[in-house]
Amino acid sequence: MDFKDYITIIEDYPQEGIRFKDITTLMQNGPVYKQAVDKMAAFAADRQIDVVVGPEARGFVVGCPIAYSLEKAFVPVRKKGKLPRETVDADYGLEYGESSLSIHKDAILPGQNVLITDDLLATGGTVNATVQLVEELGGNVAGMAFMIELSYLSGRDNLDGYDIFSLVTFE
Ligand code: 5GP
Repeated sequence: MDFKDYITIIEDYPQEGIRFKDITTLMQNGPVYKQAVDKMAAFAADRQIDVVVGPEARGFVVGCPIAYSLEKAFVPVRKKGKLPRETVDADYGLEYGESSLSIHKDAILPGQNVLITDDLLATGGTVNATVQLVEELGGNVAGMAFMIELSYLSGRDNLDGYDIFSLVTFE
């Protein structure tokens, strides 16, 4: 089964020149969504993960079911100003635009093994900011799992030394 068959490519969205990969069509198919999550969870299962961390909003779409399946914690990373308690923050650049991400200060204990997950790895800006947050709290990034990797944006090159899994790659 090729997961790519269930991902829709939208030309010039949300800006001209961007070929947006829409995972909602994959999620609309229950058995395919489950298989995608299962494969990502299988990668995580070998890595003694304590906590799954995902940035909003599509990081929740993959991170929550992985955490549920592993019976491990899920910790949300959100845009600055959205979390109700004390946070640590990190600025980052996107494929299109700039932003700032936050995590609750007490969400990860020093030494815990963390899986970072998101729907898609593009330039690596989002995941790099997430790594910064996790490491600032003393977490150990034991792996990263993505549904999609856009290898032409070279995100992986900025993630030297991390253990990265992606379900499908667009070259
Ligand atoms: P990066 O920070 O690696 O450049 O971009 C990845 C982040 O932007 C992810 O959080 C992802 O949800 C979002 N993103 C960027 N491009 C796309 C895309 O083509 N499709 C989807 N689904 N998300 C994207």
